[in-house]
Amino acid sequence: ARQAAIAAAKGPGRTADGHPVPLLANIGGPADLDDAVNAGAEGVGLYRTEFLFLDRTEPPSTEEQRRAYRAALEAFPGGKVVVRTLDGGADKPLAFLPAPAEPNPALGERGLRRFRRFPDVMAAQLGALAAVASERLQVMAPMVATAEEAAWFAQECRARGLTNVGVMVEIPSAALRARELLTRVDFVSIGTNDLAQYAYAADRQVGAVSALHDPWLPALLDLVAMTAAAATRAGKPCGLCGESAADPVLACVLVGLGVSSLSMGAAALPAVRAVLAAHTLEQCQRAAEAARAQTTAAQARAAARVHLSGLA
Ligand code: PEP
Ligand code: MG
Repeated sequence: ARQAAIAAAKGPGRTADGHPVPLLANIGGPADLDDAVNAGAEGVGLYRTEFLFLDRTEPPSTEEQRRAYRAALEAFPGGKVVVRTLDGGADKPLAFLPAPAEPNPALGERGLRRFRRFPDVMAAQLGALAAVASERLQVMAPMVATAEEAAWFAQECRARGLTNVGVMVEIPSAALRARELLTRVDFVSIGTNDLAQYAYAADRQVGAVSALHDPWLPALLDLVAMTAAAATRAGKPCGLCGESAADPVLACVLVGLGVSSLSMGAAALPAVRAVLAAHTLEQCQRAAEAARAQTTAAQARAAARVHLSGLA
């Protein structure tokens, strides 16, 4: 029994009734890979590539990037690796992508918007990804607001031979139009950190408004549900890689809302795996429905717990 418990503690993510929910790791570079493997991650769900190059004044070379991406593919021989292209600006300043002076950087030229203005940096990164391309490699863009941006990114990737291309859904416009975005790309991944920031118009760097970043806020759950439903209808995966996946109770709710995989910091993986394994998909769905029917974050959390009897 103890062996089985240990195997389950490391095995693939699934609900009590066997519905698979791949549990993946958020990483910022090769130094995070050991922890991810040791925590039993099934792959990488969010490779925050800007963290490889935070303090640099020169754009990273293609060769250096190739090594960093290959290391992740090698650490997870059977698992997928979702690499996000550079997400510079606002809370992630990058010296080699100079920022214009803006009154509201979170609403300015960040993420894909900035990336598009630096074709050399983009060519180096997509080139490095194409050089290590494998069926297990997926590439996604941050801060996508429109279908035009998704189409442009998909075309740039496919022109280089990258075949599994997605976008993050972290701006409400992308959630509202997820169906349209999904006609351009192969998958979406929800970023609840920014999605909360933009849904509630509350800068994630301003502590005074942090109550409006509570990932249990019902409008955020609505946007997740809307995105997941669009992906289900399109027959395409809808991952989630914001910090909300690291809360085991909320992880069950997110699965109940229709999210198909969860990615989080390695430290959170064992608890999420255990709580998910203690509940059926139907319990997760009931918890999700109950949470969405509430008005406040605290009510949503309490209402979800009622349906998750396996909580310690
Ligand atoms: C997010 O916004 O939820 C996300 C996963 O990306 P980051 O936290 O790196 O902006
Ligand atoms: Mg984000």
